Amino acid sequence: MIIAVDGPAASGKGTLAKRLAAHFGLPVLDTGLLYRAVGQRLRDDGHHLDDGLAATGIAARFEPAWLEDDRLRRREAGEAASRVAKVDGVRRALRTFQQDFAHQPGGAVLDGRDIGTVIAPDATAKLWIDADVAIRAGRRYRELASRGEPVTEAGILADLVERDARDAPNMQIAPDAIRIDTSALDADAAFARALAEVLAVLAEAGQSLG
Ligand code: C5P
Repeated sequence: MIIAVDGPAASGKGTLAKRLAAHFGLPVLDTGLLYRAVGQRLRDDGHHLDDGLAATGIAARFEPAWLEDDRLRRREAGEAASRVAKVDGVRRALRTFQQDFAHQPGGAVLDGRDIGTVIAPDATAKLWIDADVAIRAGRRYRELASRGEPVTEAGILADLVERDARDAPNMQIAPDAIRIDTSALDADAAFARALAEVLAVLAEAGQSLG
C-alpha cells in the first residue's frame, strides 16, 4: 500500500503523513527533506543557490544520512530546497531513492509535491492537501517562532507566495487525487478526514478485487 500525500508548503501534509503512517504501521518519508539536504550542502559548500550544475552533482551523491541534520527544518534550508528543486538534474538524481522507498515491501507513506504524479503514479491512495496561503503562513510562523527563529508572519507569507510560484511547475495535482482543504481544520480534524478518505479508497479497491 502506497499513500501519496502532496500539497504546497505548510499545508499540514507532513503531520498528516506521519499520522497516517503510524495508523497503518507504514514507514514514512518526508521528501522535502531530500531537497532541503541538497540545498543545505550547496550552501555549506559555498555555491550560489542557483548553481544547477553543482546542485546536480551534490544530488547525485545523496546519502540518507544527510537527512539527520536539525538545520534542515530551518527557513534557510526551505528556501535553498525550493531553488535546487527547480533543477531537472536534481529531481532526476533524487527520484530513484524516493521510488525505492515507495515501492518497498509492505508499502509506505510519502509526502511531497509530485508523489502521486511522478514518484508513485501507482499509489493506492493520493491525497492533495491545501489551505489558504495566509493560514499556511500563520502555521509556519508559529512553528518557526516556537523554535526561536527570528521570523515575522509577514515575512513568512511573502516566502510562501514566492515558494508556491517557484514550486508550481513541479506541483501537479494527480487527476485521481482526493483534495482536502485544511484551512478550517485543526490537526485532529484533518487526520480524521484524511483517514476516512484513505479507508474509503481501500474499501473500494477491496470491492473491485473481491
Ligand atoms: O515540503 P518542504 O517545504 O520541506 O519542501 C521544501 C522544498 O522542496 C519545496 O518548496 C519544493 O521546492 C521542494 N520539493 C519538491 N518536491 C518534493 C518535495 C519538496 O520539489 N517532492
